[in-house]
Amino acid sequence: MRGLLVFGVLLGAVLGHEDFVGHQVLRISVADEPQVQKVKELEDLEHLQLDFWRGPAQPGSPIDVRVPFLSVQAVKAFLEAHSVGYEIMIEDVQALLDQEQEQMFAFWARAESTDTFNYATYHTLDEIYGFMDMLVAENPGLVSKLQIGNTYEGRPIYVLKFSTGGNNRPAIWIDTGIHSREWVTQASGVWFAKKITQDYGQDPTFTAILDSMDIFLEIVTNPDGFAYTHSKNRMWRKTRSLNPSSACVGVDPNRNWDAGFGMAGASSNPCSETYRGKSANSEVEVRSIVDFVKGHGNIKAFISIHSYSQLLLYPYGYKTEPAPDQQELDQLSESAVTALASLYGTKFKYGSIIKAIYQASGSTVDWTYSQGIKYSFTFELRDTGRYGFLLPASQIIPTAQETWLALLTIMEHTLNHPY
Ligand SMILES: [Zn+2]
Repeated sequence: MRGLLVFGVLLGAVLGHEDFVGHQVLRISVADEPQVQKVKELEDLEHLQLDFWRGPAQPGSPIDVRVPFLSVQAVKAFLEAHSVGYEIMIEDVQALLDQEQEQMFAFWARAESTDTFNYATYHTLDEIYGFMDMLVAENPGLVSKLQIGNTYEGRPIYVLKFSTGGNNRPAIWIDTGIHSREWVTQASGVWFAKKITQDYGQDPTFTAILDSMDIFLEIVTNPDGFAYTHSKNRMWRKTRSLNPSSACVGVDPNRNWDAGFGMAGASSNPCSETYRGKSANSEVEVRSIVDFVKGHGNIKAFISIHSYSQLLLYPYGYKTEPAPDQQELDQLSESAVTALASLYGTKFKYGSIIKAIYQASGSTVDWTYSQGIKYSFTFELRDTGRYGFLLPASQIIPTAQETWLALLTIMEHTLNHPY
C-alpha cells in the first residue's frame, strides 16, 4: 500500500496532474436538522479542503464529500464526536482515476469516421471537437456547427444544429458538461449527436420531431473546465476565469444565470465550488447561451444535463413557490423517468430543484423558464454515488441510451403541445 501510494504520487507529479492519492469519498447520513448544521460547519472549514459532491440538504438526504488524505482523520473524528453516521464510498479516489486513465489508454484510437468512433470511452476536448467535424462532414444536409462564442481562455464554443429545413423552427436545446467533471454527460452528448443522425428517417417518432423542430446540442458547455479536467485536475467543476479579489479560480456556471442571482443557494466566496460570480452572466460561457437563446427566440424546450444522482428536475431552484406549469412539468417528468427506467430499470426521482435537492439560485433552467421556455429541465444522470463523477466508461452507452428515451418523451410532448 505504502509503495503504491509513493508510486501514485510520483506518477501524478511526472504528468503534472493534481493527484488524489488517499483521498476518500464519504457518504454522510444526517438524521436531523442539528446534524445537517454540523456538516455545514465542516463545509465552512476551508483548511480541510473538502469537496462536496452532494452538498448538505434536508435531513435524510445523503451528503457525499471528497476528503483529502490529510483531512480524513479529522473529518471522521468530527463526525464520530457528533454521532453523525458515515460510510466510505470511495476508498482511494486516485485508484479510480488510474483505472479511468488505463481504460482511456487501452481504448484510444484515432477514429476515421463517426461509425468507428468509440462511444464507450471518455474523450478529450480535441477528440470531441474532431467528432463534431466528422459528423457535420458526413451529414451536411442535417447537421451544422455554430460557434456561439469564445471561452474565457479563448477556446471556441460550439453548438451542433440538427435541422431538416424551415426558417427558425421551434427548437429543442440540449446541453451537456456545463460542470466539467461530469464526464458521463459530455460522453452522452456525443452519443446523442450520433443517435440523431441514425434515427432521423428510421424511427417514425423521432423523424416527426425533426421534421417540425430543430435541435441544438452543446456537447462541451464548459470547454476550459473540460480541458482542465484532462490536463490538470479531474475534479474541476467551475469555469476557469480569474477572480480579481482572490487566488481561487472559476465561477460555478450553474449559479451564474440571471434568475434569483445572489439569493441563498449560491456562494459569494470565490473559493467555493458554488461561487456565483461577481454578477449574473459574468461568465462568457453562460452569456453566450443567453445571447443565443434571446437571439433565437423560438426555443420551446431547454434541457441541461448534469451528473450524478439520478434526478429529473424542473423549476424553481431559487424559491419554494411552485412554477405556474408545475402540474404539467411534474406529469411530463413522471412519463420521462418511466420511459428511462424501461430500458435497464434505472430509477430516477423527479421534482422541482428546491424540493428534490436543495435551494440553488442562478441556475440555468430557472433563467430559461423565466424567458418563457415552459419545458425547462435539468437531468442528473447516473449513478447514485457508488462512483459519482468517476462513472466507469462501461456505463457510458447504457446511460446515454436510457437518457435518450427520457429526452424523446420530452421532445415528443413539446411537439404535441405547441405554445
Ligand atoms: Zn452539475
